[in-house]
Amino acid sequence: MAKQVQIKYTQLFIDNEFVDAVSGRKFSTVNPSNGKVIAEIAEGDKADVDKAVEAAKRAFNRNSKWRKMNPYIRGQLMHKFADLVTRDLEYIATLETLDNGKTYASAVEDVQASVATLRYYAGWCDKIQGSTIPTGDTSVTFTRKEPVGVVGQIIPWNYPFLMLVWKWGPALATGCTLVLKPAEQTPLSALYAAALAKEAGFPAGVVNIIPGYGPTAGAAIAEHPEINKVAFTGSTEVGHAVMAASAKSNLKRVSLELGGKSPLVIFDDADVKEAAGIAHNAIFGNHGQNCCAGSRTFVHSKIYDEFVKQAKQLALNRKVGDPFDSKTDQGPQIDQEMLDKVIGLINSGKQQGAVVQAGGIRHGDTGYFVQPTVFSNVTDEMKIAKEEIFGPVQAILKFDTMDEVIERANRTNYGLASGVITKNINKALEFAQAVEAGSVWVNCYDAVTPQTPFGGFKQSGIGRELGEEGLNEYLEIKTVSINVTKSN
Ligand code: ADP
Repeated sequence: MAKQVQIKYTQLFIDNEFVDAVSGRKFSTVNPSNGKVIAEIAEGDKADVDKAVEAAKRAFNRNSKWRKMNPYIRGQLMHKFADLVTRDLEYIATLETLDNGKTYASAVEDVQASVATLRYYAGWCDKIQGSTIPTGDTSVTFTRKEPVGVVGQIIPWNYPFLMLVWKWGPALATGCTLVLKPAEQTPLSALYAAALAKEAGFPAGVVNIIPGYGPTAGAAIAEHPEINKVAFTGSTEVGHAVMAASAKSNLKRVSLELGGKSPLVIFDDADVKEAAGIAHNAIFGNHGQNCCAGSRTFVHSKIYDEFVKQAKQLALNRKVGDPFDSKTDQGPQIDQEMLDKVIGLINSGKQQGAVVQAGGIRHGDTGYFVQPTVFSNVTDEMKIAKEEIFGPVQAILKFDTMDEVIERANRTNYGLASGVITKNINKALEFAQAVEAGSVWVNCYDAVTPQTPFGGFKQSGIGRELGEEGLNEYLEIKTVSINVTKSN
């Protein structure tokens, strides 16, 4: 049963205060399990983004409390924030399940991963070092790594709290100030994060949250002349728009984490049952609403039939329903639009001749549930093999040789992630070296940790999040050259 939970914050968060939108407008956030409105949320747009940027600029002023703060203390603030997230873990996970529909157990995992990410970046605050560069005896040259300034952050609805933390971690560790727009489908946990940031003691204006829609609030961030960098996670289509907005406005730095159609390749020496389990989790995790989902399952022809049998059984075993029920594996998709999109792509798979092994239709008639779906006999030119479905749909393709599968795996504009399952180290490494993807998982999938860089080749993105590389997106390098005059 859905837990009863009080929604504490529904307004924009600017300069450490919760305020209404300038326009006074509100929008509904909906529970995807039943389509009912959870709360009315203040709807920010350009006027509110402008106010938030002013606050973020004040907080980034050269003489501000934030700028003068010892980086060690900045790290302590981040740890304090992580303490508060830990204190309220159950509440945040409940908000997340209510607003997003993910199972409560996976919401708890997301919040735990968020705490780990915050603590990882907290540790970096006083370790962001420049270097000294040899330029000869008559000069001394060193570099400083300085915060890029006011950053705009636009995040999606699939991991609302975790994506916020992926964005906040490096921004705060480097000493930036920020304006974040959560997805319109899932504003609740971001507003709660704002309250915790204030409680932790972050100075006013360091973090600002503007819930609202993409073409209004999101575009206002992407176009803003005084935002120095924008970090975006979402669709490739909107990624193009964000980059164009940067080009048209002030050439703000852009980092993009976009879509994927990631290949997971299973060789014939694999333990089929184990491989089917990895492949199942790779696609069905988070209801398929995962940018790095293993959405093209390539299986060697020698084990193909056996693999399909196992994959089918795993999908049939998957329990769909109330995400607050601890027995549930899969809750609803995020909204009607995504439900329609997923069902549309499933229908295209049927029409183009793929064979439905499991599912293939909507689950129930309330909320946005889809039956875990497995397609066999999928070929490369089918829409379900080419387009990002972002739903619980496994497409199983057949291959024979290494060269063939590498070529087919790379025949896409995406390049976010990939996986390979084999006991043969040479095969694993040959694939790892040849695949065009930002992550390669060998005999596992989704092995993402705070210290491992994550991001895409090709149209899956620009830049990297997490790890030390994630910091670079928020830093400017300044080279200081000093002339040394010989004495006497
Ligand atoms: P998804 O398909 O996952 O919903 P989107 O790319 O549509 O991905 O949305 C991701 C985020 O981008 C959301 O916060 C959304 O509001 C925002 N967004 C959508 N359109 C725009 C836009 N034109 N400019 C800036 N942000 C946008």
